[in-house]
Amino acid sequence: MAFMIKSGPLAWLCTHVRQPPMNFHVSQDGWRVNRKTVENYLYLVEREYVPNSYHNNIHAADVTQSAAIIMNSVKLHLDEIPKMEIFCIIMAAAVHDLGHLGVNNDFLINSKHPRATTYNDKSVNENYHISRAFEIARTTPSCDIFESFTFEEQKKCRKLMIDTVFATDMAIHFDLLKAFNEKIDAEPDVNKWEDRNLLYQMVVHLADIGNPARPFPLARGWAERVIQEFCEQGDKEASLGLAVSPFCNRENMNMPKAQQGFINVFLKPTLTTFHRVVPEFTGPALEYLDKTIAEWVKLEQSGFKM
Ligand code: AMP
Ligand code: ZN
Repeated sequence: MAFMIKSGPLAWLCTHVRQPPMNFHVSQDGWRVNRKTVENYLYLVEREYVPNSYHNNIHAADVTQSAAIIMNSVKLHLDEIPKMEIFCIIMAAAVHDLGHLGVNNDFLINSKHPRATTYNDKSVNENYHISRAFEIARTTPSCDIFESFTFEEQKKCRKLMIDTVFATDMAIHFDLLKAFNEKIDAEPDVNKWEDRNLLYQMVVHLADIGNPARPFPLARGWAERVIQEFCEQGDKEASLGLAVSPFCNRENMNMPKAQQGFINVFLKPTLTTFHRVVPEFTGPALEYLDKTIAEWVKLEQSGFKM
């Protein structure tokens, strides 16, 4: 109970996803993690989420829950998923926007932010999120969530988490989708894939961008928050004398149009591709998405802008 009071929704959710790990290193159901260590870790992770309009701890909790739901459908197509892999995916989703400053990579680069200097302008946000996530685990007493894994497992886990967090960089979206389509073309049965990292990258990426595939009141709430944050970035760009980025100008914002663009360019093709391997999740999601599109079309026709 004390834990529930001090922690936020992200930390609470992560330790209550399906069978919670027990309080010893090897639980009866095979989890090799120490629940208290995971709680300590997530408490610190959640504290480092900034209260931005969109990239905050609620977004992290939402993506974590979505990733867990998608994984439940993925499981139906695989003989077995090692618990360590499930753990890594849940943790990657939880940390995937850790310390986000509410501005995108272009802003960090153009404003010469210290993080852009540190990461040489390469996936600056994602580099920061995952680097800081491992730093917390490795340098804070009683927070090493990987301590029960062997050296080789730790290496695998680290690679999987780094790969999945990097997959949330929208700059690689089209390459990722192309690689995923090609892999399905070559072998439609995911159970036969030897390397599942690409599948897991897609799970977290889809969880990250899937908010419009919700009942419309929820989809609209996420759209309002993300567009609010884009406009705040636009305001910062203007005040710094930088060019205002596309979709960040509140003067000419058209939310219904922007949402339809995002859905048609990014989300629908991702869901449609994923439908080839996990139709249990994507079937209902695509139905909700069509309803969301219809609502935005109605709002656009009514002249609503933002
Ligand atoms: P991340 O920054 O890791 O959350 O990456 C996902 C990106 O997808 C966000 O930064 C947004 O740019 C974009 N995104 C997610 N949901 C929406 C949405 N409903 N409308 C527009 N862009 C979105
Ligand atoms: Zn995100």
